[in-house]
Amino acid sequence: MSEEIRRKAVKVCKILISKYGKEVSERKLPPIDELVMTILSQHTNDINMFRAFESLKGAYSSWEEVLAAPQDELAVTIRSSGMYNLKAKRIQATLREIQERVGKLDISHLETMEIAEAKEWLTSLHGVGPKTAAIVLLFSFGLPVLPVDTHVWRVTKRLGIIDMKVSREKAHNLLEQIMPIDCIPSLNKNLVQHGREICRAQNPKCADCILNHFCDYYSSHS
Ligand code: SF4
Repeated sequence: MSEEIRRKAVKVCKILISKYGKEVSERKLPPIDELVMTILSQHTNDINMFRAFESLKGAYSSWEEVLAAPQDELAVTIRSSGMYNLKAKRIQATLREIQERVGKLDISHLETMEIAEAKEWLTSLHGVGPKTAAIVLLFSFGLPVLPVDTHVWRVTKRLGIIDMKVSREKAHNLLEQIMPIDCIPSLNKNLVQHGREICRAQNPKCADCILNHFCDYYSSHS
């Protein structure tokens, strides 16, 4: 990676922190809660996801109970998240795999692993991709990893920090290598906010953007 990209990454990080802050996130859930919440978040919005998660936590007092529940009962409990039959099946399959591999419904051992090893362990679970793994490691354990959602992917590509052709999956490790480590914990939150408010998918507000001096998209469209 070129020195120019690295310098740009440092500047972008500083500016984002000065505008949006250095906090990681307001939520810190136990790792299995975070994993299940991520399954519930697929193809729905935050409101429906939280509603389904609260309903699930209200109906069952432990993950062991969720695993033992009839699948159709679990599906009804989480119906506000949409695609509830599929999600109920997925949640139980993930819990079952953890139970079989660890001997209990607990993945707190990941905190003591190297980040790469913990990512590998999580993504070896059926249906767990790099974004879900990064969400668990960042939000539950506070490790310096970057979940790459659609906002993070779009903004970093437009800025020219990663190439336009880089896949979202590959962007995870690439961005973690490029961005300064002290900036990574707050980077997801900051880029999501910037992507929602300024660097929108359609009609980005480039004239109002604090990053426009460093942006490839802006320099080629202005
Ligand atoms: S200048 Fe435009 S394209 Fe570049 S980051 Fe800002 S809003 Fe996005």
